[in-house]
Amino acid sequence: MKNTLACRFCGSLLEHTFVDLGVSPLANSYLTEEQLNKMEPFYPLKAYVCGSCFLVQLPAYESPEIIFGEYAYFSSYSDSWLAHGRDYTEMVLERYPVGTKDLVIEIASNDGYLLRYFQARGINVLGIEPAKNVAEAARKAGIPTLVEFFGADLANRLVNEGKKADLLIGNNVLAHVPGLNDFVSGMKTVLAPSGIITMEFPHLMRLIDENQFDTIYHEHFSYFSLITVEKVFASHGLVLFDVKELPTHGGSLRIFARNAEDASRPVNARVMELMAREHAYGLKDLDYYRTSGSRVKEKKRDILEFLIRLKREGKSIAGYGAPAKGNTLLNYCGIRTDFIEYTVDRNPHKQGCFLPGSQIPILSPEKVRETRPDYLLILPWNLKDEIMGQMDHIREWGGRFAVLIPEVEVFP
Ligand SMILES: [Zn+2]
Repeated sequence: MKNTLACRFCGSLLEHTFVDLGVSPLANSYLTEEQLNKMEPFYPLKAYVCGSCFLVQLPAYESPEIIFGEYAYFSSYSDSWLAHGRDYTEMVLERYPVGTKDLVIEIASNDGYLLRYFQARGINVLGIEPAKNVAEAARKAGIPTLVEFFGADLANRLVNEGKKADLLIGNNVLAHVPGLNDFVSGMKTVLAPSGIITMEFPHLMRLIDENQFDTIYHEHFSYFSLITVEKVFASHGLVLFDVKELPTHGGSLRIFARNAEDASRPVNARVMELMAREHAYGLKDLDYYRTSGSRVKEKKRDILEFLIRLKREGKSIAGYGAPAKGNTLLNYCGIRTDFIEYTVDRNPHKQGCFLPGSQIPILSPEKVRETRPDYLLILPWNLKDEIMGQMDHIREWGGRFAVLIPEVEVFP
């Protein structure tokens, strides 16, 4: 069949495979008990790299309405995310004081875990969150929230209502946007003349460097280097003037952007330095991207070797967490209840459900104390310190923690 897939930014034909993870269900489509006996849709999970602009991307096989309609992720269930939100608020208000007459808009505001820190300081806030159940939680907490997808259309309506953002925040949303150009042009529209945009997203360089292939899943349409995101923003009249590397999600970037017309904030040396580092790393070299696939296959062998050894030694293994990234890992490696008896999650919305594809049951964390597994496999490895603190009691019976990404590692 002829490939007619086009780059979602520049429109070039997508001819180069970055990583092929086979077929997988949508990572956030948790199953109910009744659904276990029904057919489950699987989609190709094959990431391409554009030969012109180097945007790494997955084609969209389903509409965002289907993917994000009932999103089960509530940021407030994670202590680290709450702390991250508090630290972010302090940082941004110190650098860019926002007055009580100003407006802070957050795109993909989730359950209001971040905006509540601004609201507590008397600042006007508006959240935009397409997942109904999550937006409802924000509204109940008193955070004004629109249940919509952000794009050029919504941006125009907000401007017509006299709303422009003095601070426009988008954390962990840019990767989730199928209509990238529509989204970024909407940000340009809704940004006040001297307003600032800050966005956070996983850094492609870290994904490649640490073989974090499990961050590839259908909800993540795009994977950005600074080089590529700078091009995307520039094409819509926005300038990146600062960047910070963050430890979140295994290595993220926080970018600071402004209108191209606003000359009051010169482009920082950090932007140039990181782009030069990405260039030296190979992120403008197609061959470099094409070597990732073989490293991912080798990683799968390491993981299976480890799990097979534990099972042959008669060990019991439980999972911790039910994150989207865990589903990519389990489905690509073919890990089911034959290796992991169950997983646990603090989020009560996920408890009683089953992981998509692998059909591993999701139970409450108390189950671990009851069954005393030999190994607790932490699926959201980016939160491993927090989880090892919370589950420290497994050491009472000699239980050990393990992570599989970036390396197979056991913590005695
Ligand atoms: Zn492209």
